Amino acid sequence: MKCEIILDLLPLYIEGLTNQTTAEEMERHLKKCGKCRQYYKEMTGKLPDILPKAETDSVKLLKKERKRRRKIHAVIEVLCFLLFMAVLAVMPRDINYKDVQLEYGMNGNKAYVSMRPKPYVGGIVFNGEVKTLRDENGNSIGVCQELEVLSGWGMLGHLGKRGGCIWESDPSDGRMTEWKFTFHDKVVTIRNGELISIYDADPEKQR
Ligand SMILES: [Zn+2]
Repeated sequence: MKCEIILDLLPLYIEGLTNQTTAEEMERHLKKCGKCRQYYKEMTGKLPDILPKAETDSVKLLKKERKRRRKIHAVIEVLCFLLFMAVLAVMPRDINYKDVQLEYGMNGNKAYVSMRPKPYVGGIVFNGEVKTLRDENGNSIGVCQELEVLSGWGMLGHLGKRGGCIWESDPSDGRMTEWKFTFHDKVVTIRNGELISIYDADPEKQR
């Protein structure tokens, strides 16, 4: 069959209105004629089922396009992951009691407390004040450092300052030295190098 005839018959063929013999002849033609196949494709918007499995140019093109899209998806995934890590790295986080390693005790006459953030925490910063401890008569019996333990800068905190803090004080004159650390979840009090109490932080203050 000639191409012009095929083109004339294509609409009927697509509608399934051609008779068996004509249909078979058209299919034979479409298999070997790229030009008519192209028309067929444009009319139906898809590759004809009758095409042999062998890769035609359009199938190759389709595969190439799919490969390209897969590559773009992979790049987007990597970018999302990097963005996620970056946010994690700089996002401040709440510091809980378990996020630090707390050591305390006496070193000779000196009471000490050392606080080190766990590796996943990054830097920690403090906000606080020193208060005078008084007995019931109002006499000064020592000092208390009240420190709120706050987040530094996510994991990037490590780049700034590694490690933690050490406080030292000499309570040997009979005065008390107290540290009261307020974490996001707990309040920990250490007096003269001894752990005095751990209780839940005020839920009102928790965000
Ligand atoms: Zn043709």
